[in-house]
Amino acid sequence: MYQKNSAKTEIAYIKGVGPKRAEAFNKLGLKYSEDLLTVYPRMYLLKTNIRSLAKNHDINVIFKGKVIDKYLPFKPKQPTRIIISDGTASIESLMWGNTFYREKQFKIGDEYIFWGKTTYNTYNKSVMLDIRDHKKFEVTDDDMLKYPLIPVYILSEELKKTWVKPLTLTKIIFNALKSEAENIFEVLTEPVRIANDLLDHKTALLKMHYPSSEAEVEKVRQTLAFEEFFYLQLVIALRKKAYSETENGIHFEKIGENFEKLFNEHLGFELTSAQKRVIKEIISDMRSTKPMNRLLQGDVGSGKTIVAVFCILVAIENGYQTAFMAPTEILAEQHFKTLSYYINKLGINAVLLTGSQRKKEKEENLTKVKTGNASVVVGTHALIQDNVVFNNLGFTVIDEQHKFGVIQRAMLRSKGTNPDVLVMTATPIPRTLSLTVFGDLDISIIDELPKNRKSIKTALRGETERLKIYDFIRKEINAGRQIYIVYPIINESEKLDLKSAVIHYEILKNDIFPEFSIGLVHGKMPWKEINNTIEDFKNKKINILVSTTVIEVGIDIPNASIMVIEEAQRFGLSQLHQLRGRVGRGAEQSYCILMADKTNDISYERLKIMTETNDGFKISETDLKLRGPGELLGTRQSGELKFTAADLATDGDLLIKARESAFKVIDEDPQLRSYHNETIKEHFLKYYKESSELIKIA
Ligand code: ADP
Ligand code: MG
Repeated sequence: MYQKNSAKTEIAYIKGVGPKRAEAFNKLGLKYSEDLLTVYPRMYLLKTNIRSLAKNHDINVIFKGKVIDKYLPFKPKQPTRIIISDGTASIESLMWGNTFYREKQFKIGDEYIFWGKTTYNTYNKSVMLDIRDHKKFEVTDDDMLKYPLIPVYILSEELKKTWVKPLTLTKIIFNALKSEAENIFEVLTEPVRIANDLLDHKTALLKMHYPSSEAEVEKVRQTLAFEEFFYLQLVIALRKKAYSETENGIHFEKIGENFEKLFNEHLGFELTSAQKRVIKEIISDMRSTKPMNRLLQGDVGSGKTIVAVFCILVAIENGYQTAFMAPTEILAEQHFKTLSYYINKLGINAVLLTGSQRKKEKEENLTKVKTGNASVVVGTHALIQDNVVFNNLGFTVIDEQHKFGVIQRAMLRSKGTNPDVLVMTATPIPRTLSLTVFGDLDISIIDELPKNRKSIKTALRGETERLKIYDFIRKEINAGRQIYIVYPIINESEKLDLKSAVIHYEILKNDIFPEFSIGLVHGKMPWKEINNTIEDFKNKKINILVSTTVIEVGIDIPNASIMVIEEAQRFGLSQLHQLRGRVGRGAEQSYCILMADKTNDISYERLKIMTETNDGFKISETDLKLRGPGELLGTRQSGELKFTAADLATDGDLLIKARESAFKVIDEDPQLRSYHNETIKEHFLKYYKESSELIKIA
């Protein structure tokens, strides 16, 4: 049975909106009256009378009052003082802004709704109302003042253009709540609500807008946040169920002699116990007939590539091809070389496929892939194009997944018949995020670095220390080390930034380090050229590599032991951690020097964590708190992460509870057929229809 309110009310028909304002709302993605219900307040105003203000200051208040007196300033740029009374007492308020305008605006005897923040004047021990922002008083009807707390919402620029003032918006949303109230249905089942100590949906929603006290808000918000998480996790649970139920995956039976040979003869180092553990986890998936979907997470330098190599060998020995997809051409090339280094010794060949390859080379490679002559194919997203046909694809490795979408993952998978999928990510991401973005994958974590690593020493330095740093670099180069110097390139200002990297390269080369060999790489260079320079750096023909973030991931040059990052404050913390991971790969002590403006307290504080820890998980958690999931993951997937009540950075426990509940529901009733799950099914079909099309829900 479907809900009766299938006809939604257009936003234009809400009292106080009309076509012009409706357009502005539409631009914000708000189309129907019900959409306004999940626009949550930014803050609440406490309804009060002036007499009680004396006890409560430094709070946001609202009251109705009359202007009973006013004093114009003697000098320009000083505030107009007005005295407001609500019949119980009076309060003084300072009005900043154009005196002439104020003079005309406030007539003695006029009545307004006033709101603002009260401040306590220690000088004459009085409480004042700070309405510096001239928008903070409006004429509105008394209806609003029935509630103890009045919500105020974020007012976008679009809405401001249509003369919507803060309390007008409050009124509009109030009207929407009034007209939609009878259409607010429960979204969870009672067992789920009871198990998680949640309010019913309608109470929670109404109280979110009009709570009885500020203390109540958090409990109410938790219910709404839980609901948001629950449905996202329900989609994930269904997706996961859909392919883990298939028994048509590949059963990789053999672990043959190549695996043993690499392990015993060619490796040159002992695998860490974490590496051994994850290899076991992956291979046990490969042996099962259910298709594998696994995420391999590990901090930079934890040795993920070699783990992939072992698994690739298993695929090959069972007669299947492997596709290895990387986000950039440089990375694809690097992986190609590393893989080839290990598998060529075993008489196995890999081919490389990238967008910029010459036609002839590409065609030869495509033929090798098609005929099965190439066992391993490494490439960029060129791999998912139509012209790439595999002979017998059985295993896929996707590096740096969050730069790819879920769709690309599915496209690569469709090149074979239920191949096993291993996703690798070098950015350690907080658990809350991985349960969301990678929620349908099983997770293996390498939580240990190879033993011979010395932890990188990170320092935060300012301009005044630059010469000392150059001396240090000189000393290290003379001792045989190599150096990275990184400049930021960040979208809009790209051209300017690029210029800055190039100019600094010239200066470093000609004026500062004329005695050394210096190379430059940046994203606007042809990738062949980048590769050649990186090769030269690897072969120690270059002492200092000046670069932009093109070297962020995948480059493995153990002899490079110092990285200087210029204008470090312009990078995200996780990105700095990735960059820093380019050093500390050899036996020597490594250093990362973050150059930043020491006078800017905020960015300096933020960067300090880099000097305090080398733990990528800790860093990305801080990053999540400071910048949000969109920035941390790249914008591509942030669409999936738009929560209105929930906050990924702080609601981790709630997310896990919601996930457990959602998975339990789907475990017990995979197609939501049971009568008890009717509410969930209806809500799911109504709001998550796209996802339901992927999944068999009758
Ligand atoms: P990640 O991709 O996880 O950042 P890599 O796979 O690039 O790390 O490995 C980093 C470096 O460590 C490589 O030079 C690799 O050969 C080396 N390495 C990997 N595993 C070990 C190990 N168990 N002991 C010593 N060195 C290792
Ligand atoms: Mg399998």
